Amino acid sequence: MSARVFDLGGYNWEGFTMATYKKPCIHCGEFVEGDSSFCPKCASSSPFSFHCPYCAKEIERGYAVCPNCGAQQQITKREGVQ
Ligand SMILES: [Zn+2]
Ligand SMILES: [Zn+2]
Repeated sequence: MSARVFDLGGYNWEGFTMATYKKPCIHCGEFVEGDSSFCPKCASSSPFSFHCPYCAKEIERGYAVCPNCGAQQQITKREGVQ
């Protein structure tokens, strides 16, 4: 007959605010805010994922070419190789 109504009015979400934990930039390793659009250290516009610079599609690290548009990607050489 009568549905129970949960009163959520005035519920305080303080303490449940979206975490702004830091994540390492995939390009330089610098820890930056998880919601950052740019890495402040290396100025990458995609600190947490690789994107094709031509079509902006997200691609896997180490791809030689973009699977979407076929553009050649810059391959970062492994650290330690001199
Ligand atoms: Zn970076
Ligand atoms: Zn592409």
